[in-house]
Amino acid sequence: SDLTFTGSKKPREKLLGGLLATDFDEESCLSRYHQPSLRKPSPYKPSESLVSKLRSYEILHKHCGPGTKAYKRATEQLGHNDVRSSGDECRYVVWMPMFGLGNRMLSLVSVFLYALLTERVILVDQRKDITDLFCEPFPETSWLLPLDFPLTNQLDSFDRKHPRCYGTMLKNHATNSTTIPAHLYLDIFHDSRDHDKMFFCEGDQAFLGKVPWLVVKSNLYFVPSLWMIPSFQTKLIQLFPQKDTVFHHLARYLFQPTNQVWGMISRSYNAYLSRADERLGIQVRVYGKHAGYFQHVMDQILSCTQGEKLLPILAAPESQASNASTSPKLKAVLVTSLYPEYSDKLKNMFFERPSSTGEIIEVYQPSGERVQQTDKKLHDQKALAEIYLLSLTDKLVTSTRSTFGYVAQGLGGLKPWILYEPRNRIVPNPPCVRAMSMDPCLLRAPLHGCQSKIIKNTPFVRYCEDWTTGLKLV
Ligand code: GDP
Repeated sequence: SDLTFTGSKKPREKLLGGLLATDFDEESCLSRYHQPSLRKPSPYKPSESLVSKLRSYEILHKHCGPGTKAYKRATEQLGHNDVRSSGDECRYVVWMPMFGLGNRMLSLVSVFLYALLTERVILVDQRKDITDLFCEPFPETSWLLPLDFPLTNQLDSFDRKHPRCYGTMLKNHATNSTTIPAHLYLDIFHDSRDHDKMFFCEGDQAFLGKVPWLVVKSNLYFVPSLWMIPSFQTKLIQLFPQKDTVFHHLARYLFQPTNQVWGMISRSYNAYLSRADERLGIQVRVYGKHAGYFQHVMDQILSCTQGEKLLPILAAPESQASNASTSPKLKAVLVTSLYPEYSDKLKNMFFERPSSTGEIIEVYQPSGERVQQTDKKLHDQKALAEIYLLSLTDKLVTSTRSTFGYVAQGLGGLKPWILYEPRNRIVPNPPCVRAMSMDPCLLRAPLHGCQSKIIKNTPFVRYCEDWTTGLKLV
């Protein structure tokens, strides 16, 4: 049946169309059960094959996870140089947090999808603040890499010069198909070398599949590249008949904010967004050494939002437009940015003059942190809360190549209007472009190597709207 009774008083509905497992303690992670109170149901339903894949993954994770005999056996292999696999041991992929929160959430989803496709168990490095941000996603086990993991002290030293880096080993001809190392490091960044990108080649996957421990550092959403590995593509088509829903489903499955973050989200939402007739999100990311408030960015935001009729233009100060109706429409505008000035200006505009449509515009920005402070607990929690709040809006404006915006659009199932990156402090013309699909952009398309030919022949990957050397699922 659709209802599961789990001991607490309320019968539980299937969560997110069956996407989420139900056997969790409700109090320890309120967001898992309370999201539907803020979120409209997604129009995108997970496929049955995805739901059953997740359920069988949960069983695998419980069998292989920290504290199990299988985990102990697998860690014991780490002392050996050549693994003789009997084929039934658990295999793992360890995710390490790199760059800002948006980058991290994109790479984490990518690594999780890789784990699903290759029957590996994902474990996450917990030494940064991941436990302050997200609940445990898998029931009755943990996704946290134990602190006494034998390689803990080496994890930070893994980089592309490391002898266990896969690309480096290929470069040095240090691999052969008969000796299987117990662990390898994978370097998947925007500037990784061609040797590192061999990870995405079918033949290399056959070899990597035998390595019990893979450690990944990445700042990319490399899911589109997984689609271009032929044997993976077959499985992916089944799991995701709607190709651009990969991030949408997997992020909603994996990322349940902790109670502290959920408190921020629900307080903000109920105070500023819940009563509005329509919600518009505007994510303003300004890049560069001297980032901050710029008039041309403000002009660009207005040119895009007013041009696309996301915000009304202003009427004369003395005009009666705002009195036109006794119950005017309320539009809430959620602005997120490191800088508070953009929302201040917007708020002032709609205070000083009525809107031409008579709509009441309420502008709200939860925080203005000024500088990125990744790994500071409260800063990262605010960032997550804001990403999440953006994902709860009806329409969304984001900034070029911002992973922060990509996560919000994917979680929300929204096709945003993307503000182009201004050059030479001039408002770009056009100021923004509508996204083709909600899935994030892989900011560095694999233009060389085994995938370059596949790109041309794959109809469901396109160059990104906002970043011409990026690639995305449509
Ligand atoms: P990207 O650099 O835009 O791709 O996004 P990331 O999330 O990877 O890195 C930017 C980081 O800067 C975020 O994780 C936050 O720590 C901070 N940041 C940037 N924009 C905002 C914002 O609008 N709100 C908040 N709270 N933090 C932000």
